Order: sequence, then structure tokens, then C-alpha cells
Amino acid sequence: MIQEELVALIKSKVIDELSKNENQNSDLGIFDTIDEAVQAAKSAQKKLCLLDLEKREVIIAAIRKVCLDNAALFARLSVEESGMGRVDDKVAKLILAAKKTPGTEDLVPSVQTGDNGLTLIEQGPFGVIAAITPVTNPIATIINNSIGMIAGGNTVVVNPHPRAVNVSIKVIELINDAISKVGGPKNLICTVKEPTIKTSQQLMSHPDIKMIVATGGPGVVKAALSSGKKAIGAGAGNPPVIVDESADIEKAAHDIVAGASFDNNLPCIAEKVVILVESIAEEFMNCLKKQSVYLLNDTETSDLVEKIIVDGAVNKALVGKDAAYILNQIEVKPISDVKLLIMQVDKDHPMVYLEQLMPVLPIVTVSNIDEAIELAVKCEQGNRHTAIMHSKNVDNMTKYAKAIETTIFVKNGPSYAGIGMGGEGFTTFTIAGPTGEGLTSARTFTRKRRCTLVDGFRIV
Ligand code: NAD
Repeated sequence: MIQEELVALIKSKVIDELSKNENQNSDLGIFDTIDEAVQAAKSAQKKLCLLDLEKREVIIAAIRKVCLDNAALFARLSVEESGMGRVDDKVAKLILAAKKTPGTEDLVPSVQTGDNGLTLIEQGPFGVIAAITPVTNPIATIINNSIGMIAGGNTVVVNPHPRAVNVSIKVIELINDAISKVGGPKNLICTVKEPTIKTSQQLMSHPDIKMIVATGGPGVVKAALSSGKKAIGAGAGNPPVIVDESADIEKAAHDIVAGASFDNNLPCIAEKVVILVESIAEEFMNCLKKQSVYLLNDTETSDLVEKIIVDGAVNKALVGKDAAYILNQIEVKPISDVKLLIMQVDKDHPMVYLEQLMPVLPIVTVSNIDEAIELAVKCEQGNRHTAIMHSKNVDNMTKYAKAIETTIFVKNGPSYAGIGMGGEGFTTFTIAGPTGEGLTSARTFTRKRRCTLVDGFRIV
């Protein structure tokens, strides 16, 4: 028997042996308890590590395919279960996640050679990762996290948001099934039948969880960062968009409506407040009227704000709803198809500082670019998340980018260009501002390991 066959035989014997202790009822990753889910993921991770990178890519290709084949189904089920977002936009997000999440090519080893020999730095897995996922992008985040984490050699236990549990379970089952069909290990992605905040906390404190990736609001990010473990926090944003006097105003109006209405403003990167410099404000508003928007008058604005902000917080019953549904709350019927509601407010209005996550966009006018930048920084509230600008003035763009310090800065496009939709670069649905990893990908989910060969291999 040649050596390669012998190695393959030994690997398959080890995998069979590891499989003996598995819960036979849960091949597709769905468990009653967090402990069962973590144990299954731990056993799966040992098997994943035995496979070579080529096989890991076969597994990732299978994940991409099953997600692309079922994108329309997943999008429809997400909207039905969560009651949030737009099916067509969710299809676009799922396709983006399936196609543009980097795989193993994202892992780039480095090497140093010199008089003392050779040192190799490689990226190894953490082990089992806890992925806490949001209701706003429930499935795109699962697909994106799973591809990146598995590419890094890890397995995943997902704690989906309770309002998207059924669709998340369906997706995880189909992905595990697709992996099995290409000969990959069972249970690479696991979850529990009834995820809650309590199961999320159990998962974070489980001794076999080696990394926590929390995508959500301030509460979950704080919980992850207080866990005492390696944690990646992808938190809230309130992206401001500035339009200055040098911008292509018609295009700016078009792009802002496209970004702010996309999936009913659920993405954390979506435009949440517009800041106009006075000299172009009238022209911009005229261009905006040509888009699928409804301009609220002052009375409608104050009536609607009372529905949106309840006890100082966003009314969750309106999050991710269609513009027409929101307008209906103040008994206004739009004449035609409306994607976005617009309100003109002053710079101290509470809507300017609120992460509304619904297709209602406040617009503020200020006298000049310096005032616009100062206000944008205030609106962003130190989230270091996303900012957008429509401008042809390099000095203004530089000044704004430096002042706002966001992870993503989009110039002259809709916000989603910043995650690779119509803009260059890979995609992610976990943007780690608070902990600084930025746009996460496979390499984010690995640890650097060094191997030194003293006085060894050099060819020069
Ligand atoms: P959420 O914080 O309510 O829930 C997110 C997840 O965290 C859920 O699975 C939930 O069960 C869990 N969770 C919530 N509080 C917890 C706690 N105290 N301890 C442990 N687990 C907890 O957020 P959401 O409404 O689902 O999503 C919207 C928020 O997520 C917005 O603020 C949005 O900006 C943010 N978000 C950020 C990114 C990013 O990449 N930075 C991506 C998507 C969404």
C-alpha cells in the first residue's frame, strides 16, 4: 500500500472512531441543549482538522451552492417569521453572502528567512466558535459566519435570534446536509431548538467555546466582551451621510434612497441620517422627490415620531416594516409605491441620533461642510461603524473620514457598496467596530502560530 493510501485509511479510521460517541439523532446540527450542541461541534472540529484545505474548499463550495439554490426560500421564510425586511433585498443579501464571503484563500501564511534559518507563521483554528446572530440579517449572518469560520478550520454553534429561530434551524439543517453529501463531517454548524438570551449566555460561558462572535446591539456586545474569552463584537451603528456642494446631486439622491430603503433600513451600515450643506439643499430635495419617497409635512413628522419613539427607545413593532405600513400608523395612504419616508428636522431632533432600523430617514440642513462633519461625528456616537459621503472634493472627503473614524467609509455610492455590493472588496455581515477587527473574514477567526526551523532551510 502506498503512503498516501495509508494516510487516508488512518484518517478515515480516526473519523469513524470519533463518530461512535455522536448523538445519532442530531446529524443535522439541531440539539436540545447548549452542551449537546457544543460537544457535537467539538467532535466535528476534530474531524475537520484532519481534512486537507482542498476538502475544506469542497465543503465551502457545497455551503455556497445550497445557499444560492435556496436563497429565495430562505429570504421568504426570514421575512415571514421575523416580520421584517423585504424579500427581494434579502435574496440579494443572501446571494452576496454566499458568493462573496472569502473561503480558505483568505488564510495567507507568512515566512521569514535569514542567517538563523526559517520561521513560518500560519493561521490555525480557535476550535468551536459561538456565533450570536441578529434578527436584522438572520440568515446572511449565519451563512457569512459559517463560511468564514469553517474556512478557518473551526466549527460553529449559532445562537440565532428567537424571532428567526425556525428559518435559522432550516438553513442550518440544509447546510449540514449539503456538507454530508460531499463527504464532510456532520454537525459543522450546530444550534439549539429554542435559542434565547439565556442560551446565548450559556454558550458564551461554556468551557469548550474558544471564541465568541457577537453580532447585534450594545447588550450582546457588552455580554461577549465581559465573558473573559476572546470575543469579537460587531455592534450598532448610526451611519450619517453628508452631501456637499461638489456632489453629483441627482446621483446622491438616488444612491441615498437605494441604501436607506434597502431591506427596509435593517442593515447596520444603512444610511440613518442625511446631512446637507445649505447651498445644495433645495436642489437635493427636488431630486429626492423624483425617487420612490414620501415627504412628511411637519404635522405628519411629529405624529409619526410619537409612534416611532416610545419611552425614549425605538418602537420594535415598526422595525423593518414597509414604508406604507409605517405611514399607515398615522393614517396616511401614499398615492404610489413608496420605499422610504423622509422628514426634515433640525440637528437636535431625537430621530437624528436614533438607530431607527426602518425606512424613515431624517434630513438635516447645516450651513457648511465643517458644521456637517461636526454633526455627523455627533450622530455616529463613537460607534466607529459606517459613514457615507457624496462629494467630489478630496479635501472634504479626507477631513470627514479622519474626523469620523469609522470602520467603513463609502464615497459616492449607496452604503451597501461598503460591503462589496456594487463596490470592490469581499463581503461580511459582521463588522467589528468595537473590537477593531473591522470587516471580519476567515483570517479573523484564526490564531497565529509560529514554527521556527533553526539554521535550517534557505535557498539563497
Ligand atoms: P439584539 O442585540 O437584540 O440581538 C442579537 C443577538 O444577541 C440575538 O441572538 C439575541 O438573542 C442576543 N442577545 C441580545 N442581548 C443579549 C445579552 N444581553 N446577552 C446575550 N445575548 C444577547 O440585536 P438585533 O435586534 O437582533 O439586531 C440589530 C442590532 O444589531 C442593531 O443594533 C444593528 O446595528 C446590530 N448589527 C450590527 C452588525 C455589525 O456587523 N456591526 C450587523 C448586524 C446587526
